[in-house]
Amino acid sequence: MLAPSDFEHMLRTVDLRVTAPRVAVLSTVHANPHSDTDSIIGRVRDSIGAVSHQAVYDVLKALTDAGLLRRIQPRGLVARYETRVADNHHHVVCRQCGAVEDVDCATGVAPCLAPSESHGFAIDEAEVIYWGLCPQCVSSQ
Ligand SMILES: [Zn+2]
Ligand SMILES: [Zn+2]
Repeated sequence: MLAPSDFEHMLRTVDLRVTAPRVAVLSTVHANPHSDTDSIIGRVRDSIGAVSHQAVYDVLKALTDAGLLRRIQPRGLVARYETRVADNHHHVVCRQCGAVEDVDCATGVAPCLAPSESHGFAIDEAEVIYWGLCPQCVSSQ
């Protein structure tokens, strides 16, 4: 479990000023991977009190732009955020309830970054989403 000082350090390493909303957003996303914006706003308000939707949106954008958060948006679902960045992992998404889990890539140190044909592009990211039904949704069918 990371301490508030760890999140303050993460902000400083990307030259972002340390603010209570930024620390609260980072820590709640770290504790709740693949959270959507509404649940992040709820948890941030629980921890630091009144903060506007817009303030949280702005923090999410700043942290994502700075590379501290990764934003994923499977089609048909709202955007989700996570602090597991820069490892190019993938996601499995439940088509029925929207549950999201991480999937490591099985192919070496630069997962899935060596496509069969690059068309000359300098590729630095691969976005793979596996769709299906989560265990709960399978068992409720
Ligand atoms: Zn499901
Ligand atoms: Zn993930």
